[in-house]
Amino acid sequence: MSFLKISHIAIAVQDLDAAKKSFEVLLGTKVQTIEEVQDQKVKIGMIPVGESRLELAGPTDDTSTIAKFIQKRGEGIHHICFEVADIKAELSRLKTAGFQLIDELPRLGADGHEIAFIHPRSTGGVLVELSEKKKEE
Ligand code: ZN
Repeated sequence: MSFLKISHIAIAVQDLDAAKKSFEVLLGTKVQTIEEVQDQKVKIGMIPVGESRLELAGPTDDTSTIAKFIQKRGEGIHHICFEVADIKAELSRLKTAGFQLIDELPRLGADGHEIAFIHPRSTGGVLVELSEKKKEE
């Protein structure tokens, strides 16, 4: 059992439109999708980079977790997401190994993927997300 690849790296940005413009120039490619996650008060722009993606996450409101993150730590890397084959198995493996899980059970993320977060206290100060791709029926 192992992690498959880096799914995406998420960057917290204050102004998604401004960040979108500069990252499109930096990477020489366009933001593919922009999605608003209403319950988290965040707007997400995804830019493909090879087999991974860069996720630009901007707050839509001062009470969003991204806004609080920026107030505390400034803009910067917010989390790293690894794609795994079996998220439930990985969560129980990591829990047994002593990692502090934010989500004990996977929840539904963007694109219908199952996702879960691991507390940065256990992972060198970086929030880690696990993601299992939706099975193609
Ligand atoms: Zn993510």
